[in-house]
Amino acid sequence: MNKAVRNAVIAGNWKMNKTRPEAKALIEELKPLVKDADCGVVICVPYTNLETALELTKGSNIKVGAENCHWAKSGAFTGEISADMLAEMGVEYVVIGHSERRQYFGETDVTVNKRVRAALDAGLKVILCVGELLEQREQGITEEICAMQTKVALLGVSEDELKNIIIAYEPVWAIGTGKTATADQANEVNGYIRSVVAKLYGEKAAEALTIQYGGSMNAGNAEELLSKEHVDGGLIGGASLKAPDFATIVAAASK
Ligand code: PEP
Repeated sequence: MNKAVRNAVIAGNWKMNKTRPEAKALIEELKPLVKDADCGVVICVPYTNLETALELTKGSNIKVGAENCHWAKSGAFTGEISADMLAEMGVEYVVIGHSERRQYFGETDVTVNKRVRAALDAGLKVILCVGELLEQREQGITEEICAMQTKVALLGVSEDELKNIIIAYEPVWAIGTGKTATADQANEVNGYIRSVVAKLYGEKAAEALTIQYGGSMNAGNAEELLSKEHVDGGLIGGASLKAPDFATIVAAASK
């Protein structure tokens, strides 16, 4: 397995933060700080900020993503947004299966799979989140949980379509808690997820797959996490809301 063949991607997940003026200020501050990045830079923002983000990042190296999408093309799904609606705007990425969606909004492995399919059909790139709860880690079933979430999410996804997928391993106990997985723990599970993908799609496809780590990654711990063989970038929550911190993580991934 050769890390150098993979594209490192640092993606911010703003969650339900930032009004439009706040989003504008953050993006304007961020642009010059990451302009020389030698990795992919993505900001996944609330729906209400997509237009602002697309406008302000035009001509820059920052790509824009949404934080979720529905599986249907259109219809009676009040409050939802379809993948086609995002693609039509010029959005490139979408986060699917984030643990907060699973925890608070009844997202299951099956609905994650349906959303993944819809996003790929619309031509979007997917950041697919998987990860275990603290109790599951303590029970010693981290690998089983990550394997199950990965396999179900990828049902019906072809090897060619896998090129439009990034997997983000996010141990739920590390998200927004300040409790980061150690670099070795992150590397171990990322490597395991890669082996699951290798069984499904072959070694070559698995070797090329970008697998991020997410969970309290910040300006202080990013370099060590990103130095690991199987950690190809990060999905960043809290630290993506501060331009200098996010830029420091981008710089660490560019080394
Ligand atoms: C996330 O929202 O995906 C995340 C990793 O959050 P945080 O970095 O705040 O833990």
